[in-house]
Amino acid sequence: MSTTAHARRPAAPPPPEALTLRAFLGVFRYSRHALDLVWSTNRNLTVLFAALTLFAGVLPVSVAYVGGSIVDAVLAAMHAHGAGIHRVLEWVILEGVLVAALAAAERGLTLARSLLRVQLGQRVNEMILQKAVTLELRHFEDSEFYDKLTRARREASTRPVSLVTQTFGMARNIISLVSFALLLAAFSPWTVLALLVAGVPAFIAEAKFSGDAFRLFRWRSPETRMQTYLETVLAREDYAKEVKLYGLGPRLLERYRDIFQRLYKADRALTLRRGGWGFLLGLVASVTLYAAYAWIALSAVGGLITLGAMTRYVAAFRQGQTAVSAMLAAIGGMYEDNLYLSTLYEYLETYVPPPPGTVRAGAQPGDGIRFEDVSFVYPGTDSPALEHITLHLRPGRSLALVGENGSGKTTLIKLLTRLYTPTSGRILLDGADLAEWDEQRLRERIGVIFQDFARYQLPAGHNIGAGDVRAFEDEARWREAAAKGRASEFIESLPAGYHTQLGKWFQDGRELSGGQWQKVALSRALMRTSADVLVLDEPTAAMDAQAEAEVFEHVRQLARERMTILISHRFSTVRMADEIVVLEHGRILEQGSHGELMRADGLYARLFDLQARGYR
Ligand code: ADP
Repeated sequence: MSTTAHARRPAAPPPPEALTLRAFLGVFRYSRHALDLVWSTNRNLTVLFAALTLFAGVLPVSVAYVGGSIVDAVLAAMHAHGAGIHRVLEWVILEGVLVAALAAAERGLTLARSLLRVQLGQRVNEMILQKAVTLELRHFEDSEFYDKLTRARREASTRPVSLVTQTFGMARNIISLVSFALLLAAFSPWTVLALLVAGVPAFIAEAKFSGDAFRLFRWRSPETRMQTYLETVLAREDYAKEVKLYGLGPRLLERYRDIFQRLYKADRALTLRRGGWGFLLGLVASVTLYAAYAWIALSAVGGLITLGAMTRYVAAFRQGQTAVSAMLAAIGGMYEDNLYLSTLYEYLETYVPPPPGTVRAGAQPGDGIRFEDVSFVYPGTDSPALEHITLHLRPGRSLALVGENGSGKTTLIKLLTRLYTPTSGRILLDGADLAEWDEQRLRERIGVIFQDFARYQLPAGHNIGAGDVRAFEDEARWREAAAKGRASEFIESLPAGYHTQLGKWFQDGRELSGGQWQKVALSRALMRTSADVLVLDEPTAAMDAQAEAEVFEHVRQLARERMTILISHRFSTVRMADEIVVLEHGRILEQGSHGELMRADGLYARLFDLQARGYR
């Protein structure tokens, strides 16, 4: 499935890219989305978060200021031989109070952030799933799209809150920085300049490496997906049987490890580069700090400033520098979060054409289903899966599709159920093109069981009720459908009847046999009492031949006006259909009733004889 993605992807990790200002700024457009998202998720928490951020922004400079005042008050008290000692104590107490307030603000911020994160994580996951519900089948079968979905699910749910944290963090640091700069400007504007400039190189490096990390993340999403897939195969019940018996475990684990090693190598290279540059450029900042320190100290020695002022300025410079790097780091983080959010919005903005059509009843009611010269090529392939299919099925009639594996039987059903649209030709229901039908109405008219039908890890009743969402909880309807699908007998013998949990995933779950699951799926399809088209794609392959023939006959009897389409490899059942279509390589090879096809003595007659001989 991921082979196409592999082919499109270069084998080596993406080379580091130059960072342009334009590209850098262009990325920030998702900040607004993220702020909107957080704001609409919980206004109170967002306001609290913003208020605490402001508060925490102005406190540090007051602490630095008071620190300087303590030193001056101490010196004054020493000169006055102990008088004014209460002033010293007052300043110390004030500093203590300020520091305590700062700690409280920090706590509050952490709290607000973690609450927001939980709410937002849920919200974004819901958005992702909501979108998934509207997607078309082809999206799920497209590996590139699947990568997108996986990327969105993996990273994007934590990014919006992180982006908002970074944004507020930046605001907070800017406030601190401005207040420190005002304090420092009293000493010399040059120190302010030095403060700002010293942080820039480290910042540029950080932004560049964030970009590289993101490209790496995108590049490797097919491999990450393969890893997740291997995890599933190795650790899930439905694979356990084969994995054990074929001894696949060690082999797959090896593959899992190999992928890790490959990804780790690329990761390590980036981490090393990031760390190395970060250290070197961080040194620039330290050197600047100590140069400024020396200057301020010398000024104090020369008597230009008081000892208290020196304490203040040094604290302001040191903390100002921390604020600069924190601010720049926040911008870098915002940049990174924006990059990751782009994957979320890329996914959410995937264009899904609105379901076309408004027709609720055809122009020729009772005309049934017509395929008119229908051909179909799967997206991403070049050979047609179906070619020039023309057939007509009237209400009350049944049609059986016969053909070897891959001859196009299931594809025909997917077109009929409008999971895919024909590449050329058209399909009519009651005289109206399928494309023109109202989606909901069309779905109501068709009941389907696919050969790979779902086995919901839900109670038996819900497994059946799923066939008609309006009657999902309607126990009387479950019973009715189960009786038609011949499932009532074994369901009633389960410990909690229709309320028995099916499958092995959850507590007290009962696993069913293949044939029993099929009966459940059949009952589910029969929940659609309003459906007049019933499609059975090898619905009974896990049942014995006798049961299959009975089910088919039974289904045919259920509603005289129904159209029944059956795919089966069992000729004993197929022969009962009013009309039989033999497909080969996507084309209709033979068509007619059992008697006609036997008389024609073609492929059908040959296959029928072959199977009949097996039974004699
Ligand atoms: P049948 O039901 O008769 O066994 P299908 O209709 O499933 O056959 O398949 C018909 C052809 O279409 C096969 O060659 C198969 O490989 C191809 N095919 C089926 N599903 C897909 C898909 N989702 N994407 C691409 N090709 C497909």
